[in-house]
Amino acid sequence: MSSPVALPVPQIPRRRPTAVRESLQDRPVDGRKRVLLAAPRGYCAGVDRAVVAVEKALQRYGAPVYVRKQIVHNIHVVTELEALGAIFVDEVDEVPEGSHVVFSAHGVSPMVVSAAEDRHLHAIDATCPLVTKVHREAVRFARDDFEILLIGHDGHEEVEGTAGEAPDHVTVVNSPAEADTVEVRDPSKVVWLSQTTLSVDETMETVNRLRTRFPELQDPPSDDICYATQNRQVAIKKVARDADLVIVVGSANSSNSVRLVEVAREYGAKAAYRVDYADEVQQEWLDGVATVGVTSGASVPEVLVQEVLQALAEAGYGDVEEVRTAEEDLMFSLPKELRQDVTGQRDERALGGRSR
Ligand code: SF4
Repeated sequence: MSSPVALPVPQIPRRRPTAVRESLQDRPVDGRKRVLLAAPRGYCAGVDRAVVAVEKALQRYGAPVYVRKQIVHNIHVVTELEALGAIFVDEVDEVPEGSHVVFSAHGVSPMVVSAAEDRHLHAIDATCPLVTKVHREAVRFARDDFEILLIGHDGHEEVEGTAGEAPDHVTVVNSPAEADTVEVRDPSKVVWLSQTTLSVDETMETVNRLRTRFPELQDPPSDDICYATQNRQVAIKKVARDADLVIVVGSANSSNSVRLVEVAREYGAKAAYRVDYADEVQQEWLDGVATVGVTSGASVPEVLVQEVLQALAEAGYGDVEEVRTAEEDLMFSLPKELRQDVTGQRDERALGGRSR
């Protein structure tokens, strides 16, 4: 095995020190100030598993461990793992031959797996099992010679990975408007699949418009939009009805976090904003606001939500009421490459899942 060499690390925004955060001011408003805190929120089972996988790989193999793309779409998580010795790269050809590389929760196409094999990399596949399920559907429908209309965002890593399973059979449909123009070879043999982190309502609008044009359009065997995405959207819909302002904690490249902002606005919040950190909450957002809704995307550690709640408490919003619409207890086992320790024993943390 060749020895690891230092490679340039992609520029990932660093966490601002909390010490520089200016306190928000407690200004009077009409009505009682309060926070409605959505639940479920934050970490899902797939994100938890992926983050634990990188931590385990670092413990077992030592730094550096390379990770293709951001392991999950959250700046804070990536920065913390970098501090432990993870090196994030865009493609496997940036990884020294023979090194350990973790594939992110969003999944990879077969081309990436082959490229890793060509470089004799030790790959640890942290693809969320719910993304893998969509990959399998794509493979199966392509084998049966269906044309697959993949509803999702072109360029998103998950869409690239799923489309890469059957590139000759997949057409990406980015929006309801594209459903009106997409062309297919044989309207009697077409199926839709989707990215796991979309807006449920917008996806169904896209499907309805596709079905108007292609009445024989087949549905996926089960929901592709995952339980975590759906649960977080249901919870924020309930909160948004009563909120003057909704704050979503999550990163700009996190699809499910951005969808939460859109859903909050659609379901009645007078305003909705996304922040990575508490110090991004603006004083003017709170002008005249009695009720603030708070939630977080599926890749967001709870500590970041607590920091936002602390900032809001300083502004007089210390009264926090949880609005829970579902319980979640799903856990996924760790990637198979990490399930056994070096002595061949089953690892004591073969299951992912822990609270942060
Ligand atoms: S958001 Fe859904 S698909 Fe994505 S990692 Fe979490 S559980 Fe898996």
